[in-house]
Amino acid sequence: MKMMIRGGRVVDPAADRDGAFDVLIEDGRIAQIGRGLPVNGAEVIEIPGTWIVAPGLIDIHVHLREPGQEHKETIASGTASAVAGGFTAVACMPNTEPINDHAGITQFILKKAAEANLARVYPIGAVSRGSMGEQLAELGEQKAAGCIAFTDDGRPVATALLMRRALEYAGMLGAPIIDHCEDPSLKGDGVAHEGYYASALGLRGIPGTAESLMVERDVSLAELTGSHVHIAHMSARQSLRAVRSGKERGVQVTCEVAPHHFTLTDESLDGPVKYDTNLKMNPPLRERADRDAMLAGLADGTVDVIATDHAPHHADEKMVEFDRAPFGIVGLETAVPLVFDRLVHAGVITVRRAIELLSTNPARVMHLPGGTLADSGAADVTVIDPDRTITIDSAALRSRSKNTPFHGWTLRGASMLTIVGGRIAYAAPGVNLADRLLSR
Ligand SMILES: [Zn+2]
Repeated sequence: MKMMIRGGRVVDPAADRDGAFDVLIEDGRIAQIGRGLPVNGAEVIEIPGTWIVAPGLIDIHVHLREPGQEHKETIASGTASAVAGGFTAVACMPNTEPINDHAGITQFILKKAAEANLARVYPIGAVSRGSMGEQLAELGEQKAAGCIAFTDDGRPVATALLMRRALEYAGMLGAPIIDHCEDPSLKGDGVAHEGYYASALGLRGIPGTAESLMVERDVSLAELTGSHVHIAHMSARQSLRAVRSGKERGVQVTCEVAPHHFTLTDESLDGPVKYDTNLKMNPPLRERADRDAMLAGLADGTVDVIATDHAPHHADEKMVEFDRAPFGIVGLETAVPLVFDRLVHAGVITVRRAIELLSTNPARVMHLPGGTLADSGAADVTVIDPDRTITIDSAALRSRSKNTPFHGWTLRGASMLTIVGGRIAYAAPGVNLADRLLSR
């Protein structure tokens, strides 16, 4: 089976390619990229010249909730949400029930992902047994079972000694340690960014320093061990400074920012809906200076990756007082519109940089296949219409959970077509496709 995507603008930063090219896909792989390629029996998908043909987007921070919390999300519903959002691959966090701290859980996740047959799923294993922060998990066995990295996400890696050992061990395995950076004593039972709005609304605060203290520890330990640490969902300007200074002295540190941290601030807590629990996430929405720092880091290259921290929660769990609600929002289906509307069209970053942040760098940082449209590589492709105006409708999300603060937002930019291994995993209304392409 052959198909050709014809007429679009191919943007592939890893191959230094940006221009009008045809992409020929054969037997699940990229067969050829060029101008005016002969059709030779391929099924042609004709797209407008303004549409972007990118290497498949990769979200390296996703909570798929299975096993254990299938009322929030399953691997099937989460990967359906991923491909609808333009992601051909996701890396899933280990804070399931039970925690993914051994090979059996990793194998279960991979089996469910294969059954769902939508986005690729790369499990991330726990750093410590039960993510309890005491004993190191069997990182070698987990790596052999398919884990690509390790984290105790939901919590920080508890102690400096554990982090040192984890970095040493994972470093030998060639896998990064991802850290959810927060100092638990400083975070306390805070629920919102420490500042004017938390005070005005009577919410307990979490200072940015609760995050950056741990980032500074991790950068120092990455320096000590020569291993790679990746900072998850960075939100505070002090953290960005710590990452930048680490990078300047050659430390193997990388970082990601989530769309809500470059689009929203704590000011929205004081919006039309007071105490909206869809604005409660950890780390919290920060103040404007932090948001602006994230934008600067995205533009200047300090930030490596945009990752969503897709965190589904059931409506009943979120429909409680702000203090009691769980942290987190869904993100897979809103990321592309937010990146294009708020970053690309706003002039913060170029299209090329957007693809770098969503595909090239996620692959590079986590040592994953993909992130480029190389000849003979797997045909993971995301097609984006940068000019399509859409209105986010939480009820229409493929995710089993609808907890998004972006409901009702009108944004310019949308994923149109998601191809995983040469198979069409998602096509938006408005894409002209032969029926036999969809039925496979
Ligand atoms: Zn986290």
